[in-house]
Amino acid sequence: MTIQILPAQLANQIAAGEVVERPASVVKELVENSLDAGASEIEIVIDRGGHKRILVRDNGCGVAEAEITLALSRHATSKLSSQDDLAHIDTLGFRGEALASISSVARLTMTSRPMDQENAWQAQASGRDMTVVVTPAAHPIGTSVEVQDLFFNTPARRKFLRSEKTEFNHIDEQLKRLALSYYPVSIKLTHNGKLLRHYRAAKTPEQFERRVSSVLGKGFTEQSWALDNQHQSLHFWGWLGRPEVARSNSDHQYFYVNGRAIRDKLILHAIRQSFAAILDEHVYPSFVLYLELPCDQVDVNVHPTKHEVRFHQARLIHDYIQKIISEVLHSQLDGADLQPI
Ligand code: ADP
Ligand code: MG
Repeated sequence: MTIQILPAQLANQIAAGEVVERPASVVKELVENSLDAGASEIEIVIDRGGHKRILVRDNGCGVAEAEITLALSRHATSKLSSQDDLAHIDTLGFRGEALASISSVARLTMTSRPMDQENAWQAQASGRDMTVVVTPAAHPIGTSVEVQDLFFNTPARRKFLRSEKTEFNHIDEQLKRLALSYYPVSIKLTHNGKLLRHYRAAKTPEQFERRVSSVLGKGFTEQSWALDNQHQSLHFWGWLGRPEVARSNSDHQYFYVNGRAIRDKLILHAIRQSFAAILDEHVYPSFVLYLELPCDQVDVNVHPTKHEVRFHQARLIHDYIQKIISEVLHSQLDGADLQPI
């Protein structure tokens, strides 16, 4: 056997295995790019559960003509340039892999126009060497990324796609997760020509609450306790579902660290401990909680999907969260009904 460098498309397809699992993961990567681009409006248009087409359009900063080819290449990012930056990540993306990965397993077109550019340009990558073809196009300020025929060239992956309805539900769920953060951004979701969701931009605490209601239903905020605590450089706030609205699954558990949705064992353990006295082991508390802390105190470069994080002072964060939630539970329940439900 001889050692050889893999063709670009194959290398990107291998990387795609980690981040592009299904249409919902494409939507997540594209919407995160729009958020990083500072968009205030994002529209997601889906055809046939994303099997056929996923389009994400934003009014963000755009990509200049000179850089649009690079945007589609692997390890090309505008969000990171030194090892030092890696310790202070304040964007959702930084790996420079999503567009290259997606374009290796689907037909991807990026059309973009920055504010200081008179015309838009469109880029498409194809073939084994993923040559990028750039042509002039029409587009308002911002960016559209269209992804068609996901996994058309990787039949083994295509086989794992579920029905259009199931894939759409995953997209819907993914967008709820994103819409519960980034409140000032308006997010619209259209499926098969029908506008199904419109999460309106929210700028005041009342509007935040309305946004959470529009994502999780009015019942959620009505049956929750608001929480807001500031401790040194930590800010911890959000909504804690009352014990009566705890569920038999973890569907209503949303936790954000500096705006990024995470699923972290340490955090879940802290929350579970706080509820231990009032909730049965098999019942899951509902919550939408946000932890904000200086970005050099948390490492998000743990896994390609970035769902896990590592806190530099893990024990301290764990105990802080447990303490604040326990205090809310005690004050609301007045110690009296601290009995398992
Ligand atoms: P990453 O987000 O990790 O940097 P991506 O492959 O997702 O990697 O994107 C590559 C680059 O393309 C980004 O760093 C950014 O400069 C540019 N880009 C992608 N999507 C957009 C967008 N919607 N608006 C502006 N720039 C974008
Ligand atoms: Mg990205």
